[in-house]
Amino acid sequence: MRQKFVAGNWKMNLTLPEAQALTSEIVHMLHDELSGPKPQVVICPPFPLLMGVHRLLGDSGNPALGAQNFHQKESGAYTGEVSARQLHSVGCEYVILGHSERRQHFREDDALLAEKLRTALAAGLKPIFCVGESLETREADETFDFIGQQLANGLFHLSKEDFAKVVIAYEPIWAIGTGRTATSAQAQEVHAFIRQQVAAAYDQATADDTTILYGGSANAQNARELFSQPDVDGGLIGGASLKSRDFVEIVKSF
Ligand code: PEP
Repeated sequence: MRQKFVAGNWKMNLTLPEAQALTSEIVHMLHDELSGPKPQVVICPPFPLLMGVHRLLGDSGNPALGAQNFHQKESGAYTGEVSARQLHSVGCEYVILGHSERRQHFREDDALLAEKLRTALAAGLKPIFCVGESLETREADETFDFIGQQLANGLFHLSKEDFAKVVIAYEPIWAIGTGRTATSAQAQEVHAFIRQQVAAAYDQATADDTTILYGGSANAQNARELFSQPDVDGGLIGGASLKSRDFVEIVKSF
């Protein structure tokens, strides 16, 4: 059975004291308010905050620590860059890959993402791999073709064993940071399609075990409806992960 899963993407926000205050609040609220089976929670701070946040999360693995990016090469003369092994060595278990902001602002394409995926897995990091269409693509009725291509080019070159370590996040670009959420029916339709594609590329058991998150203006008000969909296994949360009460309410929304 795949696990329920909520990851917070803090993006380029917060100073160390702010990050530590937010982390402490989240850890205490989750401890006090969650009963029964716990969803996997992951917090993804910017690089300089990783160690300070890890100290507060501890080594229980839930909440786990994730990073937002790394360089595709293992090590070397890449001034200003950060390697996957360095992230693993400071306590990261997960890393976000293929986020639309990185595809758009940093020109990360399928070939680069394929290289990054291999580097992440070799370093022991579990990728949270994002796919999602623009508004233009949706309005042209090309969403399924587009996402099918992103999956085929970006992910399905992995062996079944490596693919099992990947979490997929469906993040329609038109819903990220816009306050415009996909309806639960729109999310379910694409999540079901992604699961079918995984089944076709690998097998049904692999598809049934794949965690597929929704991301795009998810919040404490709409999470319950989104997470009630059969193929929505949780969320990748941007803006609402910066407020402890909102983030914890999202985690409690299953
Ligand atoms: C994101 O950037 O991954 C995201 C989902 O952002 P937001 O929740 O702010 O739309």
